[in-house]
Amino acid sequence: MTNFFDKKLGFGFLRLPLSDPNDDTSVNIEETCRMVDLFLERGFTYFDTAYNYHGHRSEEFLRLCLTSRHPRNSYSITTKLPCPALKRGKTPEEIFTHQLQKCGVEYFDLYLLHGLDGEDAVYAEEHGCFEFLKQLKKEGRAKLIGMSFHDTAEVLDGILTRHPEMDVVQIQLNYLDWDNEIIQSKACLEVCRKHGKPVIVMEPVKGGTLAKLPDKALSLLNGEKPAHRALRFAASQEGVVMVLSGMSTYAQVEENTGFMGSFVPLTQDETAVLTDVSKIIRDTVSIPCTACAYCTDACPKEIPIPRYFSLYNERKRDGWQVNTEGRYAELTKTFTKASECITCRTCEERCPQKLPIADFMKKVSAIFDM
Ligand code: SF4
Ligand code: SF4
Repeated sequence: MTNFFDKKLGFGFLRLPLSDPNDDTSVNIEETCRMVDLFLERGFTYFDTAYNYHGHRSEEFLRLCLTSRHPRNSYSITTKLPCPALKRGKTPEEIFTHQLQKCGVEYFDLYLLHGLDGEDAVYAEEHGCFEFLKQLKKEGRAKLIGMSFHDTAEVLDGILTRHPEMDVVQIQLNYLDWDNEIIQSKACLEVCRKHGKPVIVMEPVKGGTLAKLPDKALSLLNGEKPAHRALRFAASQEGVVMVLSGMSTYAQVEENTGFMGSFVPLTQDETAVLTDVSKIIRDTVSIPCTACAYCTDACPKEIPIPRYFSLYNERKRDGWQVNTEGRYAELTKTFTKASECITCRTCEERCPQKLPIADFMKKVSAIFDM
């Protein structure tokens, strides 16, 4: 294994600072450059992007903020092959070549099959994607290969048994989803350990859910910031080599690189209290959306699904005082209202959390469109 994983914090290029909060492609390049520079200055080197993040422009932002400004040996890059794009007639080679151009590099340190579940894995097998990755590694165009994964531990076990060539696996792991019957963080981690695969963690803070806790849960953390506890929980697990954080502000980079620079694993007491914290969160958070935005491209009505779910959760947690109604009204000047959801459920096929999005959209509408 190379030294990509010297430090356990990776910079996820999927929630970069925006100039216009209603436009995912309006990334503030100057601010992102400052964040990237600070991250590198503090000795961190690992960057994670994907074909479809930030309206399909994240890889381009990586070139502008990282690869065109820093020597190639000062960082490592992971990106991913999107299986849905293959369904639109593109070949893996075409996509990969385009990704190299967008990122402005000649090879990737790590190349993953993106967001596999059981069905996508079969599709990837039938379309030669695993073979394609093996070939990339052989040619040195990808130093390591692997997959990011969203399904049950049983499905993961099956894929890793069929594909021992996978070097690493990226899974969703956080304390709230540890025993969740759909996400199965703990069980998936155990499968990776059984197959001897190092684990990269995505969603350690569950799309921000674990960064802003109800007061009752906060009081159990003895003054530690909730996002820190969540990142430390993920990084403390045996077999985890990297924890990704989708940082959106300079302050977040400053904080995360600060405490992860001298990472201290959780104590038994610090871990034990998270069972009670999780219970409080589950009783409070209404829609467990991680704001990954995988669903938004699929919506024929272009409804900003994660934004509406975030407002709904805020409204439920904090009540009237946070003016979610006003912010919803503002969003609907640009976007389609929740009430215009046609219940087609196309979005639900893309949701890694397997959320009944159309049903939740009715709840959003009942509050904000009345
Ligand atoms: S169910 Fe509603 S939110 Fe989902 S894709 Fe269809 S219209 Fe969009
Ligand atoms: S609804 Fe699902 S796919 Fe859409 S942003 Fe939330 S977690 Fe991601």
